[in-house]
Amino acid sequence: MTRRVVLIGHPVAHSLSGAMQQAACDELGIDARYELWDRKPIELADTINELREEEFLGANVTIPHKERVVPLVDRLTEDAHATGAVNTLTREGRKLIGHNTDVPGFRTALDRLVGKQKMPRHAVVLGAGGGARAVVYGLITEGFQRVVIFNRHLHRAEGLVRHFGRSASHMELRAMPWHESVIEAELAKTKVLINATAIGLTSDETPIPAELLPPDLLVLDLIYSDTRLLRDAKAAGDTVANGETMLLHQGAAAFTLWTGQPAPLDLMARKLEEARAGGIVSAEGEPAGAAAAE
Ligand code: NDP
Repeated sequence: MTRRVVLIGHPVAHSLSGAMQQAACDELGIDARYELWDRKPIELADTINELREEEFLGANVTIPHKERVVPLVDRLTEDAHATGAVNTLTREGRKLIGHNTDVPGFRTALDRLVGKQKMPRHAVVLGAGGGARAVVYGLITEGFQRVVIFNRHLHRAEGLVRHFGRSASHMELRAMPWHESVIEAELAKTKVLINATAIGLTSDETPIPAELLPPDLLVLDLIYSDTRLLRDAKAAGDTVANGETMLLHQGAAAFTLWTGQPAPLDLMARKLEEARAGGIVSAEGEPAGAAAAE
């Protein structure tokens, strides 16, 4: 029987995940098809129930469903429970398990960015959506002592701080209003800057004017391309990385969960690069913000 793995999102028309996961299955001789399922929030509960059948190895879940799927599964792993978001589903019999492989994906990306330096303890995070949840949880569990979150809608950043209240009780986790002077003051005190907003995904915009960027920062943009933020940061003397490593490693972790096999990382990286060269910029294929509003 050809097994099925599905990506559930809205919309999902162009997906970098599809390119790398299908290639990985084919390479390892796994008889499985990676399908893109565009499902509206109202269809989500029925869609998730379909996955209980034997033909399904599991699923990826993306915008705008990562949080909505939490109450629909039978069990959550620690990363999924802690972040309140699920990006990968596996099946045990008819039971569905919710995982969050964005968390290990982020950890790998952070480790690569920091390299041989000592792991910093202070970070500024831009954004408070699903991606930011994985980032903030990754920073908390990495031992960061001060993390400041800026978001266009402050209440969402405040909600994120409340969500992590208990796991962040040993450190300072704060939401701050998006004012350039406040961001500048915080950047002067930090070593790590992470962009988890969608600014720069579909246009050449940046969340932070170039003149606000101090030198010697470590800057990670979750967007899978060389955004204006990263170009400006590089020009300012910062060390930069885009979302490639996080995307690759969240996908590799999901692949292993579904198949029990190590992921062919080099091949998956190559397929991601090809898909990007073909014009796909978003990790999940969504135009920035369009689906989240529905
Ligand atoms: P969400 O829709 O959950 O969150 C979007 C975030 O971007 C919110 O903080 C939102 O702010 C902010 N935002 C969007 N448009 C604007 C704007 N015009 N001005 C200011 N803020 C804006 O998306 P995700 O968190 O899932 O994804 C965010 C980004 O991270 C995307 O680019 C996505 O591709 C990337 N990503 C990459 C991953 C990877 O593996 N590399 C994994 C996950 C995400 P507000 O709350 O105020 O609307």
